[in-house]
Amino acid sequence: MKVDEIRAAETRLLLSTYDRSPVLFVDGEGVYLKDEKSEKYLDLLSGIGVNALGYNHPAIVDTIAHQSRKLIHISNLYYHEGQAELAMRLTERTGLDRVFFANTGTEAWEGALKLARAYGGLKRSEGKEIGTKFLALEQSFHGRTFGSMSTTYKAKYREPFAPVMPDVEFVRFNDEADLRAKFSSDVCAILVEAIQGEGGVRPLTSDFFATARALADSTGALLIVDEIQAGMGRTGKWCAYQHYGIQPDVTTLAKPLAGGIPLGVALCTEEVARAIHAGMHGTTFGGGPLACAVAIAVIDTIEKDGLLERAANVGLYFQDQLRALAARHEAIVDVRGIGLMLAAELDSADLGKKVVTEMLKRHILINCTSDTVLRFLPPYILEKAHVDTAIAALDEILTEHAAAHSTHGSKSPTAGEVHHG
Ligand SMILES: *Cc1c(COP(=O)(O)O)cnc(C)c1O
Repeated sequence: MKVDEIRAAETRLLLSTYDRSPVLFVDGEGVYLKDEKSEKYLDLLSGIGVNALGYNHPAIVDTIAHQSRKLIHISNLYYHEGQAELAMRLTERTGLDRVFFANTGTEAWEGALKLARAYGGLKRSEGKEIGTKFLALEQSFHGRTFGSMSTTYKAKYREPFAPVMPDVEFVRFNDEADLRAKFSSDVCAILVEAIQGEGGVRPLTSDFFATARALADSTGALLIVDEIQAGMGRTGKWCAYQHYGIQPDVTTLAKPLAGGIPLGVALCTEEVARAIHAGMHGTTFGGGPLACAVAIAVIDTIEKDGLLERAANVGLYFQDQLRALAARHEAIVDVRGIGLMLAAELDSADLGKKVVTEMLKRHILINCTSDTVLRFLPPYILEKAHVDTAIAALDEILTEHAAAHSTHGSKSPTAGEVHHG
């Protein structure tokens, strides 16, 4: 089928949950995707932070081939070789003690929420005063299933499905006073992303994060950090909370965890793990032999190839180039992020859409989140030359935009010069 035929068929056959770009991908290599005409696209989104090693990486392809000839699925009723091996790697790198394997981000987050409620119940049974309420943050995103959606801020994700899970209150982002005002012994867990992803690539301040940790400690409530987007090396450390020196009680990982194969995990301390017994929680597919084998290969490759350092270094270079671009274009009002989780915030939502479309025309994939935030989540194998290509394209697009809109002037007389990478 051709793109147009596929589009027509999907329009008839699928629930209209996605607003897809008119492009059909059939192949990929390294940081590039290829469409059905074999045209290459530079991918700075990597399947929304999933394809950490890019496309067709030998470590992933060979592991899938090898493992699929052995076992793809058994059941969590039996042992296989992957879960303990992977759990050892994950506990070492997160500083947590125990692992629950799920399939997706939202499912890992549901596990984390259930841990918090079960742990609160255990503490009450031990005579502690602790409630059932969750404090989540404004602009948070934790997923689309009922519990996750209930802790996700945007009303458009929750309201059509009301009533959502009760006992969730939202705290203003990075507002310590609001957090203190809303925190009490009614709270069983404070829920944060160290760097909000969908919310616009917004890092917590150190003070807010430290306050959340201290408040949770004051009552025995849990601090739960969602690392589904920022974790597993994207920021140059295994978890984004490690940039702050703050250790959560529970964390979740998913997107890049198995390099494109669905896998999510919730990790917790030994103390919290006391709340869970056989039969209380589970999954059919979670932590299957194939997904675990690939996740082990991804972690070992990140280490063997020095990709944490690469994400940090190329990320710094990328951020510097974005700042230089912001100095030339008034339309960019902020640049932020850590490692290869980066954003350039624009002064209008219309421009955000336009830049994504114009970049696609130039065969570069980026995304716009929170209406005005250009988001970059490239594979960890990105090189400086790829950054230069992207910056040149953005420069050209913003220069054309400035020329067309006299109110958005350029900041310097040289802004009209376009550097072709
Ligand atoms: C994507 C994401 C989720 C949900 O993951 P899914 O695999 O789409 O269910 C949850 N939390 C964060 C921070 C995310 O970025």
